[in-house]
Amino acid sequence: MQSTMMDRPLLLDDILERASTQFGDVEIVTHMPDKSLHRETYADMVRRAKQLGQALIQAGIKPGDRVATFSWNTYAHLEAYFGIPITGAVLHTLNLRLPPDDVSWIVDHAEDRFLIIDDVLLPLYEKFADQVNFEKVIVVPLSGKPVPDGMTSYEDFLDSAEGEFVYPEKSEYDACGMCYTSGTTGKPKGVVYSHRSSVLHAMIAGVPDTLNLSYNDTILAVVPMFHVNAWGLPYVATMTGAKQVFPGPHMDPESLLNVYEAEQVNVTAGVPTIWMGILNALDAEPKRWKLHPEMRMTVGGSAAPEAMIRRFDAYGCTVIQAWGMTETSPLASAARLKPSIQKLSEDEQYARRATAGMPVPFVDTRIVGDEGTPLPWNGEDMGEIQVRGPWITGSYYRLENSDEKFTADGWLRTGDIATIDQDGYINITDRTKDVIKSGGEWISSVKLENELMAHEDVAEAAVVAKTDEKWGERPLAAVVLREGRTLEPEALAEFLRGRMEKWMVPDDYVFVDAIPRTSTGKFSKLDLRKKLFDEA
Ligand code: ADP
Repeated sequence: MQSTMMDRPLLLDDILERASTQFGDVEIVTHMPDKSLHRETYADMVRRAKQLGQALIQAGIKPGDRVATFSWNTYAHLEAYFGIPITGAVLHTLNLRLPPDDVSWIVDHAEDRFLIIDDVLLPLYEKFADQVNFEKVIVVPLSGKPVPDGMTSYEDFLDSAEGEFVYPEKSEYDACGMCYTSGTTGKPKGVVYSHRSSVLHAMIAGVPDTLNLSYNDTILAVVPMFHVNAWGLPYVATMTGAKQVFPGPHMDPESLLNVYEAEQVNVTAGVPTIWMGILNALDAEPKRWKLHPEMRMTVGGSAAPEAMIRRFDAYGCTVIQAWGMTETSPLASAARLKPSIQKLSEDEQYARRATAGMPVPFVDTRIVGDEGTPLPWNGEDMGEIQVRGPWITGSYYRLENSDEKFTADGWLRTGDIATIDQDGYINITDRTKDVIKSGGEWISSVKLENELMAHEDVAEAAVVAKTDEKWGERPLAAVVLREGRTLEPEALAEFLRGRMEKWMVPDDYVFVDAIPRTSTGKFSKLDLRKKLFDEA
């Protein structure tokens, strides 16, 4: 039987249009390079996004063409998030923390036609400018420096738009954005999002039992807009009419805390390394900032240690852990407490909050063992997580031989190893390439790191596998101590023995000044291994 429902496509166009009719007066605030606060409203943003769309069409951009951005999180980037896709073109966010050679490789692979770039990032662009061939470079005047010859000012470009923007007809399956993985193994891989996947992802990210976002919120995404669409937050925020605050280039703890306080931000999101910096700043000056009394921070990208979640609670900040990846748009699971878990002891609740949480609606999830068979959800059996769903990629852009990333029956192989417990909570124990295989048993580097970071003298810790004649591999812990503390390796080992199986406890510890970071601010095990083994 046919339904009687209309067949209307799910498009970003509708999110944009409603923002102007319903939330026209709500503010969008940006922390500018000179530390002043730039303000516009949704009415301004929608008008300018449409001007951008119109100007792009007039300049020859056709549906399906790629327009790249090389930008911090700002009002102009938000305008591009809508202005490009509403024309039918594809927003391609370039990761400005990647090595220049990787960026030029990605631009070439994606065949980007135009570039929109922040003026303060032009020096970075210079490092790969001669390896790429954009037809037009549009410069956003964040600092007001003069626009170099041969480039177009973003404001002039918007002014060049003539007449009213008319939304071109589109299918919800049309591409609206693309993002390359950071390529921690091999060349970066391109993931292409559709209007449909982005709209559905925004709808699920907003619901109360995932990230719970609404027009009552003031949202600041620390996670860069060049990284998986800032976890989709600009789209959810615009859909719900939340006030948006952008950090611009200022991602250091003090700047973030200043803006949190000034704009009374109550929802923020980023990787754990950002929050460790924030915690240290709060610990050093607990009375300095008057944050929103019910601050919520979504943490993902790597595991949020339980100790961190507890420390934030003491400041009235609730950590909500989420899990996902570029390939999953990214929201795949979120750690909220079901009523049955809310009845358990405080410790058990913390344990659940330190997991990756429950799969969100429509993300079908399984864990699969070495033999390729799904494993039971008992909190014990460890296997690779595989997912499928309407915002999970089913292939990579222009990549042959990506078969090993997908199963024959159509699931994405995430490369993450996890257990799932009886209550449906996913516990990421490692990435396939980071797990430590000791004497036929697997030791979770993530578990070791979390336990190490529970020690009061430890600021950060990362654990990698070290080749061992007898066991094959053994864990080696790199530890950063909190300022002014000293600690003997044996004291750490003793601390760990009290908290986990003795055979898992590392015999080797090195104290380092810092753990190397990836382009997205996570611990870089690749660089850490290089530092520990190659340079030794
Ligand atoms: P990459 O790090 O490969 O560039 P992404 O930035 O897309 O790619 O990161 C995705 C990966 O980050 C996941 O596959 C997983 O290993 C890790 N990750 C994300 N969220 C969590 C989490 N809450 N806990 C543990 N690991 C996580």
